[in-house]
Amino acid sequence: MKNLVFLILVSVISLSCAPKANRIVIKDYRKTSVGVPIPLKYSSRKCLSTLRSSATASLPMTKLLSMGTKKLYILRDYNYSDIFSNTELGGTLSDYFENGVYIESLEGSQSLDNCLLQEESYEEDTYEDAAISILVPIREFKEKYSNILNGLSLRELTLKVAPLEPQGEGYLVNNAYYSGRKLEIVFLPQGSVDGSEVPFGGVPLWKFPMVSLHEYGHHIFRELVYTDADKDIAPDDSFHDNKLCFDNSMVDEEHNITSTKSSGVITKMTSLTAINEGFADLLAYYGYAPSRKIINMGCMTKSRDVEYGIFYNGDKKTLNKKNLKSFLNPTEMKVGACNVDTNYQDVHIIGAIYARAWYDVLSTLSLTDSKKIRILISWLKNLNSSNHSISQPTELLAAGVEDMWDSLVQNGYGQRLDKCSVYKNYFPVLSPLECVE
Ligand SMILES: [Zn+2]
Repeated sequence: MKNLVFLILVSVISLSCAPKANRIVIKDYRKTSVGVPIPLKYSSRKCLSTLRSSATASLPMTKLLSMGTKKLYILRDYNYSDIFSNTELGGTLSDYFENGVYIESLEGSQSLDNCLLQEESYEEDTYEDAAISILVPIREFKEKYSNILNGLSLRELTLKVAPLEPQGEGYLVNNAYYSGRKLEIVFLPQGSVDGSEVPFGGVPLWKFPMVSLHEYGHHIFRELVYTDADKDIAPDDSFHDNKLCFDNSMVDEEHNITSTKSSGVITKMTSLTAINEGFADLLAYYGYAPSRKIINMGCMTKSRDVEYGIFYNGDKKTLNKKNLKSFLNPTEMKVGACNVDTNYQDVHIIGAIYARAWYDVLSTLSLTDSKKIRILISWLKNLNSSNHSISQPTELLAAGVEDMWDSLVQNGYGQRLDKCSVYKNYFPVLSPLECVE
């Protein structure tokens, strides 16, 4: 049994992917994200040789190894690269408190082999195939932008592929999340909920490259923006350091949803998380071209696609007085299905406004993706200083705009842009005095 032990100060953990027990709703996506997982199997493909103890284990290879006329693929970079220290396939996750100590265990999993293979791909519906599907976009991103990423001192993560996470009568399904506290990315299994069809057209989330990079984007954000004090905050605030789920929106258009709030208090960390969501969507977009064009993802097809200026229900992506008021409202508001209403209490939605705004601004500059990523990274560095000095949620949201502006200026593009028109189009409620007409 592998145990991870965390000392924490509080005795309650709330999971943003998990259902909440203390409110009554008729249908709620998060509630229905507990279901019956679709089982995966372990691959029957055998390694040609294991590298753990062989001389080849120390070769600095990244992806392809030619041996004579035969081409062999090495999995070393997937499994033991400087991105992921370990990739765990399957198993059952549980977490609990014991004498005030938070314990998480994963039992029955298998590590992704570090070995040579004749083919890089695995059979469908295997844990290994899911793992490779998640790892490839991140590897490609890391390789392409190593000159940017190498200086960032990002810590290694664990990847957990389709673990069973018991919740009530079933298991958490159909989502992915990043946990900064545990330094892990988890892709939950696909599943059927109440006998209904699996979402996203039946395609598992690990087959969407955007999701992998989005989750890795959260890691970059946390490493660059959070202060040491933030990292120590007790993890009952799901907005800031617990599980950052990929999706809190609703997939089934017939059902009503409620907001994603799990604590009633809106803090600057809530705002920071919204900006974090926007950054992660942008990073996925610029970081790996196959991440673009979100299709088959229900309301996310427009709401989370930076190429769209509107949400799925037709609302313009803009932070006006009314939307800000909803976001700051500590009480959960009743909202309709996402084809009818946009839920401005969802951090992903507020984040999508930032993502769309910066996509729009960066598009006017005709820059390479690499340059755009550099601008985003200096945005995060600026946000880190704001995060040290700001305590109010609205102020932090405003810093999300000003710090991007500073980044554009620092990178030499300030002159070519009209700041007040960006405020007017995307952040009217945050407009500074000089931009108020
Ligand atoms: Zn996210």
